[in-house]
Amino acid sequence: MNNPYEVVPATIYEIIQESPLIRTLRVQPEKPIPFKTGQFIELTIPGIGEGPFTPSSSHFISENMDITIMKTGFVTEYVHRAKVGDKVGLRGPYGSHYPLEKFKGKDLLILGGGCGLAPLRSLFTTLLHEVEDYNSITFFAGAKTPKDCIYKDSVTDWRKYDNVTFMRSVDVVPDGEEWDEEVGLVTSLLSKLDIDTAVNPAVVCGPPVMMKFGTMDLIKCGFREENIYLSMEKKMYCGFGQCRHCVMGEFYACKDGPVFTYARIKNEEDIWE
Ligand SMILES: Cc1cc2nc3c(=O)[nH]c(=O)nc-3n(C[C@H](O)[C@H](O)[C@H](O)COP(=O)(O)OP(=O)(O)OC[C@H]3O[C@@H](n4cnc5c(N)ncnc54)[C@H](O)[C@@H]3O)c2cc1C
Repeated sequence: MNNPYEVVPATIYEIIQESPLIRTLRVQPEKPIPFKTGQFIELTIPGIGEGPFTPSSSHFISENMDITIMKTGFVTEYVHRAKVGDKVGLRGPYGSHYPLEKFKGKDLLILGGGCGLAPLRSLFTTLLHEVEDYNSITFFAGAKTPKDCIYKDSVTDWRKYDNVTFMRSVDVVPDGEEWDEEVGLVTSLLSKLDIDTAVNPAVVCGPPVMMKFGTMDLIKCGFREENIYLSMEKKMYCGFGQCRHCVMGEFYACKDGPVFTYARIKNEEDIWE
């Protein structure tokens, strides 16, 4: 990247309302924005503000980008009012990425929930481009209720690969909602895992409480701390280590992360907040 502050104008060409609080913007930047899966960009809503988001599309596509965004506050409220044809700005990419070379030939586990599925969809669809390079890929995806499940339209496609297992779980099924898959916390799916956890990698992303207990459960299952990859969504502004908002002990979440192994950051304070 030459100028880290450069904002590339982009047009929203499609909006997918994934769930009541989550939508995917499909944007076309004026010039391609190459990135590595796991990295993030800063999305600007003109006149309103900007925020960090991980592309949710494959890193093999740089002409268009999908960004999946949960409504949580000021900027994301505006994102949820955006319409097809609106202009936004993108700067980046920033930060570390998933080390695909370490996943090749392995049995990879991907564990996530809520809007944490955004970077995991980017990772997963990137892996699917070269699916034969991985011994197996298991993706456990969680949501609170069936109507909170995202990427519903992709489920059938994601289940068609011989070496891929995609399972979903919801915490509860409220009266009136239909669901014929698993019920329980997404971590309850770990009981179905059939890989050698001592030598294989796992990638985790979700709300802080899920990241924390998910990581502890992975360790109980036998995963090594250095093989557990976390995407840390700390509050950040500049995106490249100038403003210091995202300092985690000796690390900056924006430039040393957002992808860290648990072994690397486990001794820093408040990593789950
Ligand atoms: C590297 C990275 C990647 C991210 N990727 C995505 C993504 O793909 N999709 C997505 O929906 N969100 C993602 N986030 C979180 C997203 O940046 C925030 O939810 C968003 O900036 C909130 O902006 P706001 O103005 O709407 O909220 P505000 O009005 O500023 O705050 C509303 C609430 O959101 C919390 N919040 C604000 N900023 C962050 C933050 N950076 N991380 C976590 N919580 C925050 C606040 O503490 C507050 O509780 C990512 C964050 C980081 C750091």
